[in-house]
Amino acid sequence: MLVGHTPNVRYLTGFTGSAGQLVLHRERTFLITDTRYSLQAPEEVGPGTEVVIEGSNLWGRVRQVLSGAGPVRFGFERERVTVRDAERLTGIDRADPVATTALVEALRMVKDACEVALISEAARLAHEALAVVLPSIQIGQTELDIAARLESALRQRGSEWHPFQTIVASGPRSALPHARAGHRPLARGDFLLIDFGAQVAGYSSDITRTVAIGRADQRQREVYQAVELAQRRARETMLPGMSGKAADALARDVITERGFGEAFGHSLGHGLGLEVHEGPRLAATAEEALPAGAVVTVEPGIYLEGWGGVRLEDDVHLLPEGPRCLTDGRTELLELL
Ligand code: ZN
Ligand code: ZN
Repeated sequence: MLVGHTPNVRYLTGFTGSAGQLVLHRERTFLITDTRYSLQAPEEVGPGTEVVIEGSNLWGRVRQVLSGAGPVRFGFERERVTVRDAERLTGIDRADPVATTALVEALRMVKDACEVALISEAARLAHEALAVVLPSIQIGQTELDIAARLESALRQRGSEWHPFQTIVASGPRSALPHARAGHRPLARGDFLLIDFGAQVAGYSSDITRTVAIGRADQRQREVYQAVELAQRRARETMLPGMSGKAADALARDVITERGFGEAFGHSLGHGLGLEVHEGPRLAATAEEALPAGAVVTVEPGIYLEGWGGVRLEDDVHLLPEGPRCLTDGRTELLELL
């Protein structure tokens, strides 16, 4: 099996580099990478993996290693290999490449105690950073100001990196589910939506909070409560074995009953781990059962064009005895200023 998707390589070997091809052979495991990692790779991978440093032609070396194994049938990652790389693979002498789908990703869905502890730590850092930034928010500050202070607080507390571009969206912009932080200054009466995370030893947290700037009016309360109720219902009652579709419906039904079904366009959530979006999916189209041990986000939202939006997101570990929230789960409406 040839594995080149870097989170999969990291999961299987511990190697954190940005480029490398792992050849998992029945008897031996090779990690083929380049000279940038000649010191780092042997340190990270441990004794079970032989590190091959290739200075000029990574794929040439992959071919060499695979050809050296004699006539060989090998799997490669269908979703990760480019057309160019596939051409290189099919040109290998006496080789029979077989496209595989999400084999390593399926293993990664179920988290062990160590992985859950890292996601929890990433959640703790994120909450700490947000707790520093929220009280410092003032009318007139831009979304970028707020994002900058939040990202700085995350780094100062030990977050390795931002797992995705921090979303800070205010006023009508909060109706854009994936708005980037921009130049809009904060005004009284806004909703302020912040979607962010921390990263610890490669594992991410992913949290969204929406706060009101000033006293929320009746419409804002109504929308907020619908999202809060939907989110709470899903994160408190979701169980492994349920389909991703059934999990999605836990929240979606609440929002639909309150008349906002059309305004919740995206899916309920996604798996979380070495990648910020991984399996399983919590979506109306996801028939597969959620595996016990998965860590997933629960993030319903209501987005009203020209008015604003609310999303609340927590991270949940799915256990047979019930879901365990790894984030703080504090979703009550906060009114700043
Ligand atoms: Zn998020
Ligand atoms: Zn998310």
